[in-house]
Amino acid sequence: MAVKEVKFYGHVRQYNEMKADIDANIKKVLESGEYVHGPMNKQFEKEFAEFSGTKYSIPCGNGTDALWLVLMALGVGEGDEVITNANTFFATAEAIWIAGATAVLVDCDPKTKCIDPAKIEAAITRKTRCIMPVHLYGQCCDMPAIKKIADKYKLWVIEDNAQAIDAAGDTFKIGELSDAVATSFIIQKNLGCFGDGGAIVTNNEQINRVTKLLRAHGSPARNVHSFGFNSRLDDIQAGVLSVKLKHIHEGNNRRIEWAKRYTAGLQGIQTCELPYVKPGYRHIFHLYVIDVKNASKRDAMLKWLNDNGVDAKTHYSIAIHQQAGFPWGKGARIVGDLTNADYNAASCISLPMFPELTAEEVDFVIAKVKEMDKVFAK
Ligand SMILES: *Cc1c(COP(=O)(O)O)cnc(C)c1O
Repeated sequence: MAVKEVKFYGHVRQYNEMKADIDANIKKVLESGEYVHGPMNKQFEKEFAEFSGTKYSIPCGNGTDALWLVLMALGVGEGDEVITNANTFFATAEAIWIAGATAVLVDCDPKTKCIDPAKIEAAITRKTRCIMPVHLYGQCCDMPAIKKIADKYKLWVIEDNAQAIDAAGDTFKIGELSDAVATSFIIQKNLGCFGDGGAIVTNNEQINRVTKLLRAHGSPARNVHSFGFNSRLDDIQAGVLSVKLKHIHEGNNRRIEWAKRYTAGLQGIQTCELPYVKPGYRHIFHLYVIDVKNASKRDAMLKWLNDNGVDAKTHYSIAIHQQAGFPWGKGARIVGDLTNADYNAASCISLPMFPELTAEEVDFVIAKVKEMDKVFAK
């Protein structure tokens, strides 16, 4: 059947591919009677640490919690500053504010869209405690450069890995050059469950011990409590994730193949720039984002795609410092000009990207983007 439209997500297709195993795990949890922090949660905790190549994994309620749980476990809060980039999902900065610290926003690299390490040093003050690099769209930040700065100024590094699970750099893996890694399992992410979920992975014993206390009412034993919260991953979600974890690498390989097909098919278009992959990096294309060269035409081009059967979106058309609710002052401040982040917000268009796409659908999107290119090149 000829393709008439292509959706942005393939959640149900993915479920159908793994249905037998997912249903079996859900049934197992339901029949066990242990629904919160039970055996399935323990099993996934172990599997996720193994997968991540870290000593510890700490499943929790969502990706935002994973970030601030680490900040709190390290004592980063009131009066402290955390450096991150302005062009990320809102939750990165939100987690810093929740911990009580100030988000210090710097510009991104124009090609990778990840934090520009050259901009970090100028943002460091006596209050700086931590750098929070975001592996945006599925490509790793320049972690060796970030680690070097962190070592020089004795700063913590927490990787926001909500978008790049199973990605890697040329000479490094995620988690190797930082103190902790936080990820999200909401369904839009590459490893997604059927509700909210998140996790921290780390080799740091203190982060493991304290975040495990903080996520469960500060309770080391029945009836014993200290300062804490409630941020648990339930066992049904753990059961879903345990199945999906077995397929994540292969699913990401499929994303990489679709990205190659997009990039080959879209060579020579006039109006947009195609995504950049750093040599030797494993970019796992959480998102395939093209940049409209004349940003003033972006909204019209996006609408044209949507009107012509391509469910394209933007990530993120309003950068953090452009949000009306941006808490200037104590909550956040910016350092230097944010030219690249501004351009990213104004120019980005994300094309449909998920492992369960078909070649016909990818080719349909390519054909439509080329048509759009002709319409708007004039
Ligand atoms: C999704 C996302 C988060 C937050 O994850 P939730 O599970 O929605 O709390 C944080 N940072 C980035 C970069 C994200 O994409």
